[in-house]
Amino acid sequence: MTGDVGAYRDEPDAPRFTRVALHLEESGLRLAFIDPRKFGRIRLAESAAAHQKAKKIGPDALAITAAELYQKLARRKTLLKPLLLDQGITAGLGNWIVDEVLFQAKIHPERLGMSLTEKEGNALHAAVQLVLTTAINQEANYRHFPASFLIHAREWDTSATPTSHDAHTFCPRHPKVKIEKTYMGGRATYTCPKCQPAPGL
Ligand SMILES: [Zn+2]
Repeated sequence: MTGDVGAYRDEPDAPRFTRVALHLEESGLRLAFIDPRKFGRIRLAESAAAHQKAKKIGPDALAITAAELYQKLARRKTLLKPLLLDQGITAGLGNWIVDEVLFQAKIHPERLGMSLTEKEGNALHAAVQLVLTTAINQEANYRHFPASFLIHAREWDTSATPTSHDAHTFCPRHPKVKIEKTYMGGRATYTCPKCQPAPGL
């Protein structure tokens, strides 16, 4: 039950618990500040660059180069998922995006940063680009994402339809392998046990 930022176009699509909606003139999109428990705060910043610097936020995930990303991850003896969520390493990767990126790159979230090969680093970077550009092109409407995406197997917290996603709980690449749900640092984490071999196996 943490806060999030969402995008939508039509009023009925406003995410649940949208507390503030910014209407973007040029694109017609609306940016939702989603905060179920009202613990969040909104502040005005001088500029994006000044905010990034003050908060020690890393380069935008779409702008970071493969070499830069690999270099930041490979020197850390920390699990990959929290590293990718760390906004100080790269900004803009949220929980479902990190799961999708790791699935697309076929890397287990509990691998250590330092265990990454350069080839895997490149695959990870390509997956970040793929997932973010897909999300941007589809305006984050996951129902329109390609069938090859893990996101269709996630149970979304839409209490109105609690079990309607049963048909999608299998890996898009392995129709007989069920997607596993675990928790890492309290965050729901989805993996395919076949695509993403657990470390030490
Ligand atoms: Zn799979």
